[in-house]
Amino acid sequence: MRTQPQASHFIDGAYVEDAAGAPLAVLNPATGDTIARLHEATPAIIDRALASAARAQVAWAALRPVERARILRRASDIIRDRNADLSLLETLDTGKPIQETEVADWPSGADALEYYAGLAPSVTGETVPLGPDFAYSIREPLGVCVGIGAWNYPSQIACWKAAPALAMGNAMVFKPSETTPLGALKLADILMEAGAPAGIFNVVQGMGAVGAALVTDPRVAKVSLTGSVPTGRKVYAAAAEGIRHVTMELGGKSPLIVFADADLDSAVGAAMLGNFYSSGQICSNGTRVFVHRDVKEDFLSRLKARAEAIVMGDPTDPATQMGPLVSAAQHEKVTAYVARAKAEGARLVTGGGSEGLFVQPTVFADVTDTMTLACEEVFGPVMAVLDFDIEEEVIARANATEFGLAAGVFTADITRAHRVVARLQAGTVWINAYNLTPVESSFGGVKLSGVGRENGKAAIEHYTQLKSVYVGMGPVDAPY
Ligand code: NDP
Repeated sequence: MRTQPQASHFIDGAYVEDAAGAPLAVLNPATGDTIARLHEATPAIIDRALASAARAQVAWAALRPVERARILRRASDIIRDRNADLSLLETLDTGKPIQETEVADWPSGADALEYYAGLAPSVTGETVPLGPDFAYSIREPLGVCVGIGAWNYPSQIACWKAAPALAMGNAMVFKPSETTPLGALKLADILMEAGAPAGIFNVVQGMGAVGAALVTDPRVAKVSLTGSVPTGRKVYAAAAEGIRHVTMELGGKSPLIVFADADLDSAVGAAMLGNFYSSGQICSNGTRVFVHRDVKEDFLSRLKARAEAIVMGDPTDPATQMGPLVSAAQHEKVTAYVARAKAEGARLVTGGGSEGLFVQPTVFADVTDTMTLACEEVFGPVMAVLDFDIEEEVIARANATEFGLAAGVFTADITRAHRVVARLQAGTVWINAYNLTPVESSFGGVKLSGVGRENGKAAIEHYTQLKSVYVGMGPVDAPY
């Protein structure tokens, strides 16, 4: 498959190159091979992308919503038709196994385009009766939005940001993570093929500095970032300078609570999905697995057997269940956390080994709340199992973190499930499930895990603003 794109950037409906930008090599993490060579965006490229988006947005917003929707719907159909090729490219760019990318990455991006296409024509304002006078509201687009993506779900993130933004009449300039820059270019290309006007979705490549230049440009009305908390702080502060709208999808250290009456096989399966899928590189992962002491050893023995059966290897092989980490830097970070967990006295149940950029599915038991493994986001296939005895205690411990992205509860007692969920500090909570993020349901964090929501009807509000129009129906009654 051809992995080298026609050029580094996509602006105003076409691939654009500017060799003056610093070179960026794109590596396949499974082999170390260079699969593409790009250039970072220069200030001239950033300016072109923003100018084109600002120009295109006006006419795009003036279309009937049903016309915009038709284009997004076509783009989602093209993605589904080409899912095999797009998924292979995603696998080469990220190292994630093809059996995952074919069902989870581009397909969920296509879902987002289809969902917001369906929603767009029914987004309306309201009328407010005021006696003889009345007011009405108009839900308007914000203008030019900037999307900045992380490397773990590069194409899904691009679609999750582009779909609601474009559906509501905004234009977007998107900067993918420099580690995984290929999918966003494909999305830009596909949107044009689907009939989108040039300029409404532009892609510029580069490191953090390119993102920072986009965030502070006066033409930008909104910034949506998926990334880490430290980056989120910087981007939020920079956006605040111009009182810009923001959506921040940041990191987590989410609790998954397994009560003694839970269906243990399902709980084990969910804990594995919530720690090993995408080699553990998922923001909403349930990385603190609290298991009731009565079932802990049973849980651990079932978990160990299933974790040791995971097939690691070439991510392009459909039989492979787990690939490498995305980069050498991420590998170094994750293996350091494994070493630290051992040094701090956690019990290694399985895994812990590493070869190339691959890290075995790893489980530590007897983890305590103050160990580094229970406090910091690892972003790798490393599960921490903690014990608990009573409900009240586990709720307090689950909430004792600065993060609040997600949480999970496994129990057969529906009363307890809802009682516990009501008290968990998290943007998304699963009962007897984990890490399912359908586009129909909103997703986002509380506390340091973020502000704003992606997906669901909630995202509409984050890509629009309300204008209130007061209509006077009679003579003006002035006291002067
Ligand atoms: P980073 O925060 O390092 O980077 C995120 C993006 O921001 C990248 O494109 C990066 O560019 C860019 N960036 C870095 N500095 C700046 C800056 N000053 N101004 C503007 N943009 C900047 O995150 P990672 O890419 O390492 O992704 C992993 C993190 O993302 C994890 O912490 C994870 O929890 C979080 N995440 C959150 C999700 C959520 O929805 N809540 C989902 C997925 C991941 P570059 O890296 O190219 O230099």
